[in-house]
Amino acid sequence: DFHRLPNFCAGPATMPTEVLTLAQSELLDWQGRGMSVMEMSHRSADYMAITAKAETKLRGLMDIPDNYKVLFLQGGASLQFSAIPLNLLNNQAGDYLTTGAWSGKAVKEAKRYEKLGLGRIAEVATGKGSNFTDVPAQSEWQLSDNAAYFHYCANETIHGLQIFDAPKVDAPLIADMSSSILSERINVSDFGMIYAGAQKNIGPAGLVIVIIREDLLDNASEWCPMLMNYAHQAEKESMSNTPATYAWYLSGLVFDWLEEQGGVDAIGKINRQKAELLYATIDNSSFYANPVAKAHRSIMNIPFTLADSSLDKLFLTESEKAGLLNLKGHRDVGGMRASIYNAVPLDWVQQLVDFMQDFEKKHA
Ligand code: PMP
Repeated sequence: DFHRLPNFCAGPATMPTEVLTLAQSELLDWQGRGMSVMEMSHRSADYMAITAKAETKLRGLMDIPDNYKVLFLQGGASLQFSAIPLNLLNNQAGDYLTTGAWSGKAVKEAKRYEKLGLGRIAEVATGKGSNFTDVPAQSEWQLSDNAAYFHYCANETIHGLQIFDAPKVDAPLIADMSSSILSERINVSDFGMIYAGAQKNIGPAGLVIVIIREDLLDNASEWCPMLMNYAHQAEKESMSNTPATYAWYLSGLVFDWLEEQGGVDAIGKINRQKAELLYATIDNSSFYANPVAKAHRSIMNIPFTLADSSLDKLFLTESEKAGLLNLKGHRDVGGMRASIYNAVPLDWVQQLVDFMQDFEKKHA
């Protein structure tokens, strides 16, 4: 038997126990081949079947149309902050909406390529004035004419701010969905490109997924490293060099698991329930608070503060003693944060809520 505790880490995040158990059973000997998946050639027929299946499952879960490529790359979501202008800027303008730490990093990195002369980078608006608790109204966005793309972050993991509806702009949309991919249904064809680091809703760290519309593939700068070149990686089926083989395999197991849970619609319902339970607990008390505008409250990452911040340390030591792990907020925001990705069951959120109410009774 094993010992697993409610883990609210923002990433690398908790994995479905069923997936880890299955991986454990296959660890030494995958399907009678006498070797582990991590010992296989990435060019072998067995491994190619593993990756092909993972892609098929992801396409099914997200309903990805045929005119989109799905790439399984490395370097995390952060390397995409460079890959995007290198592949797509094409001497035009790249529009960026800043709504928190991650979209802020994306525009900052892109600016380096403006200096290199690859095009113009425009921050169309920033939510900084609200401390990133709200999204600037679209009427205030300074959109560029004929932009090559419009970049935004669908879910700001640190600030707990989510943009649920794809913005309606003329340029192809690029969304950083690192912390919201597969959390509920989206319409892939609203986007030119979607990318997500794996270590939250997909699998272990070391893998980043890029979903890109084919007509955007051929605009890369000659300075774009081949490993970051989307057209090249599409042609090589994400195997221009040795891919993150084991992480890719585990991601495929997570896709199987998600399908068994009923897919994104089913998990989306549970995700809403989990988030509502936690927000209701916060809103129904004057002891806890969450500052984010209601329409943009994340269903994946829920930061909260205590009215008396001198109790923060005690909250963290007591919650850890109660077996509730990784509730410390990010230093940019302070307080606490509960990340409640797909693999966090409703029961864990109930345990957290029970603990919070108990703590409030003792210390209010
Ligand atoms: N974007 C978002 C929304 C994130 O949450 C993160 C990681 N926390 C990143 C980008 C960066 O991801 P990586 O560490 O994989 O580069």
